[in-house]
Amino acid sequence: MRAGFPDFRLGKVLATSFTATLTERHGNAVERIPTPHRLVDWLAVNGLAVDSCTTAQLDLARELRESIHAAATAAAIQDALPPAAVQVINDCSAEGRAAAILTPEGKRQWRLSSASCVEDALSVIAADAISIIAGERDGKLALCASPTCQAAFFDTSQSRTRKWCDMNTCGNRQKKARFNANQRKHPRSAE
Ligand SMILES: [Zn+2]
Repeated sequence: MRAGFPDFRLGKVLATSFTATLTERHGNAVERIPTPHRLVDWLAVNGLAVDSCTTAQLDLARELRESIHAAATAAAIQDALPPAAVQVINDCSAEGRAAAILTPEGKRQWRLSSASCVEDALSVIAADAISIIAGERDGKLALCASPTCQAAFFDTSQSRTRKWCDMNTCGNRQKKARFNANQRKHPRSAE
């Protein structure tokens, strides 16, 4: 990780890991890909390594990110999908040329058409978003219960009752807040 930049929030789902590069959308928002180079870093961590990224490509990536966020949020609350967001996701999906490659070890890798092609990487992310929004995968879109977060996440828990986008951040903060509130209510009982 590069010093001086906020860490990435990485989950198991590519599309929602990507939307989590902006966190606390309803609080003090944290931009985790503030520079083109940080997007390069993020893509590398997610198996979509590119050599370089321009400011225009970063802008496009952020446009895709917010479009996925908007569409996934609508899907989570069973609202109509915003047409502009759907358009951006579809354009990004159609734009890129990435091929799924099966390794000898039986793992999937992505091969981009060229190392400078951020658009190829974005097409993989867009296609991932389409698969979860369209309900093609086992899981359910939900919104994080933290009022300052409200991130759309993909719940793959058996009971489908996950409340937070991330247990280590939003979940923990909520638990701590509850604990502190209890302490204030019953200051003696904790001693
Ligand atoms: Zn959250």
